[in-house]
Amino acid sequence: MSTEELYLMNPYLRKCEATVLKVEKVKGKRAYLTLDKTIFHPLAGGQPSDEGFVVGGNGVFEVRKAVKVEDEVKLLGFFKVGQLAPGDHVTCELDWSKRYKVMRLHTAGHILDYAMMKFYGRLVETLEAFHGPPEAYLVYDVESEPEKSELERIVSEIVSSSLPVFVRNVPASELQKTIYNAPNLSRLPLREIYRVVEISSVNAMPCTGTHVANTSEVGSFSIKSVKMVKGCRIAYDVE
Ligand SMILES: [Zn+2]
Repeated sequence: MSTEELYLMNPYLRKCEATVLKVEKVKGKRAYLTLDKTIFHPLAGGQPSDEGFVVGGNGVFEVRKAVKVEDEVKLLGFFKVGQLAPGDHVTCELDWSKRYKVMRLHTAGHILDYAMMKFYGRLVETLEAFHGPPEAYLVYDVESEPEKSELERIVSEIVSSSLPVFVRNVPASELQKTIYNAPNLSRLPLREIYRVVEISSVNAMPCTGTHVANTSEVGSFSIKSVKMVKGCRIAYDVE
């Protein structure tokens, strides 16, 4: 069985209809729920899990976490009301305010990669990434501290240029001619098809996350802290 990941083609989908494939009880009212389709993005690629609700005729399930296990996205949470069973028809609803903030933070993170490249005059690899609350951050593989105000200036310029963000699936044979300004390629897992996120004229890189459609949606970008610890850890936020 597998789960269709609707957010890969439409990250703006806040609601969807689905069918329950599996219910695995954990303890008490806690369970893993597997659906045939999902709008809940799992914890992956530096992006935190989505949260929300799955509502059926016989029960309401609160989603606290989503995890991808092979071809399935399992939703970990608990039954607030009643129960759900395989075959049940359900409506899924995202905690949209959390997800939309994550989309803005994730796109801002890709723009920060570009700002780092401009600042150092070369591609800079990332050692760690987290694009969500309570604190979004990136750890870059550099030995000297960048200038915070210069990075903020470069990111803000891209944001205010209202550049479109495209998502496309490309076969492995076409990956090299599709991507540009993309760090971390040595760590790329082997795939037949890659999902490439392109911020027009900024960078195009393999990424499975959810992004805004235009850089203007990122809003006001600021760097909260810059710390040199096994690389350079930059905490950032968007308002
Ligand atoms: Zn990404």
